[in-house]
Amino acid sequence: MTTVFDLHIHTQKYSDCSFIHPEELIAQALEAKINGFALTEHGMRWPDEEFEKLKKIAAPHGLVLINGQEISARNEKNEMEGDFLVFGVKYSLTGRYAAAELAKLVHDQKGIIIAAHPYKLSRRGKTHYYGAGDKIYHLPIDAIELYHPDHSSLAVSKVQKAMQKLGIPGVGGSDAHKIFDAGSCVTLFKQKITGEADFIEQIRQGNVQAQKRL
Ligand SMILES: [Zn+2]
Ligand SMILES: [Zn+2]
Repeated sequence: MTTVFDLHIHTQKYSDCSFIHPEELIAQALEAKINGFALTEHGMRWPDEEFEKLKKIAAPHGLVLINGQEISARNEKNEMEGDFLVFGVKYSLTGRYAAAELAKLVHDQKGIIIAAHPYKLSRRGKTHYYGAGDKIYHLPIDAIELYHPDHSSLAVSKVQKAMQKLGIPGVGGSDAHKIFDAGSCVTLFKQKITGEADFIEQIRQGNVQAQKRL
């Protein structure tokens, strides 16, 4: 059985830039026919108690929720090194982390790190990205966001090339900040996912596939 997850969502509860009320997400997930989603707030992991409350609302609908976070890596000169989705680290990663340092920390905690929208263009021009760009070739990441609403067809082909070269899977996430965007890009798991442990393991093993749905 395939399990469909949106791997990248922000809510207004912990991301100021989002308009999504967490409980609305449950209804939208059912509407979008996904089996679960990951919350990836900026520099913040949901406190366990709050997350458990939301999981309890989602569970009767058969939805599986994963508690992650999105971290903007910065080097020692405070220059952006790209955004990364992190799963399996049990606390909020506040503070400054260089990308390589972040990857090491995540792996030490037996988590996974995914390059978020590596080739999302910044307004500064054709070779500046809001993501890690070609730095992904030099980082021990576990997966790359392939389908993302801000990935052009050129960005998608760049990610496909990197996936092949690095031998790691591509994933999909909506990066939703507005409710109806949730579920627009997803990740298909080859088997039923029941929680964080198998979610992480299946991505690590590459048993996932990205899909653009809308
Ligand atoms: Zn981002
Ligand atoms: Zn995001």
